[in-house]
Amino acid sequence: MKGALLYEGKAKKVYSMLGEEYQLILEYKDDATAFNGKKHRIFPGKGQLNNKISAHIFEYLHDQGIPSHFIQQLSATEQLVHQTHIIPIEVVVRNVATGSLTKRLGITDGRSFENPLVELYYKKDELNDPLINDDHAKLLTGIQEKELSFLKEQALLVNEQLHALFKKMDITLVDFKLEFGRLHDRTIVLSDEISPDTCRLWEKGTNRKMDKDVFRQDTGDLLEVYEAIWQRLKEDIHV
Ligand code: UDP
Repeated sequence: MKGALLYEGKAKKVYSMLGEEYQLILEYKDDATAFNGKKHRIFPGKGQLNNKISAHIFEYLHDQGIPSHFIQQLSATEQLVHQTHIIPIEVVVRNVATGSLTKRLGITDGRSFENPLVELYYKKDELNDPLINDDHAKLLTGIQEKELSFLKEQALLVNEQLHALFKKMDITLVDFKLEFGRLHDRTIVLSDEISPDTCRLWEKGTNRKMDKDVFRQDTGDLLEVYEAIWQRLKEDIHV
């Protein structure tokens, strides 16, 4: 049973799970935010879509041998997860150049990479989540060299699996952001969410954006594209 509200973030609320000390309930909200919370809008039904999509992706990854905090979907907007203490590092994997990368390094938008790029960002709103290197990550979070290597390896494995999954849906996985957390025994697992809020997804052929960029850039109907992702996902996976 759902216990007390422990934390409320921009896109999710976190509750305790009564009787289960090391489990939590995540409730997906209908809020969309961008530019570090400066842009905000509510899309009724977004929480349900992201809950379904994220649950489905974590189940798929689990079947491919990639563990995460995910246990099971509980309701339209809720999922049960193992409690983790989030490591304040955002791991971004890029297959195609776009967004901040093109601005920072002058790389042409839309350029595909033969070898995916892995980047680390320090998860700290007050600092606008700055790009960091391994030394910064170790200094700021106390993470060890071996653990950092593990994070990057896992991120590349997730990339391989998601790339294959979205390819079958005629979608290019452009880039995405992952977060990892420590379980009670300090083991590190994939955590947070994987959804069109955290991935860039471009339709093959048309290059139509099917992710949160439609909200960031006001180029389309967020609910319509998230629903389209869900429809393609649910038809396709678990082969
Ligand atoms: N991303 C995210 N949360 C963040 C920052 C980035 O989910 O706080 C995702 C984003 O949706 C994209 C990828 O990480 O799929 C790379 O984002 P980028 O650094 O290009 O972000 P930008 O600042 O351009 O949005």
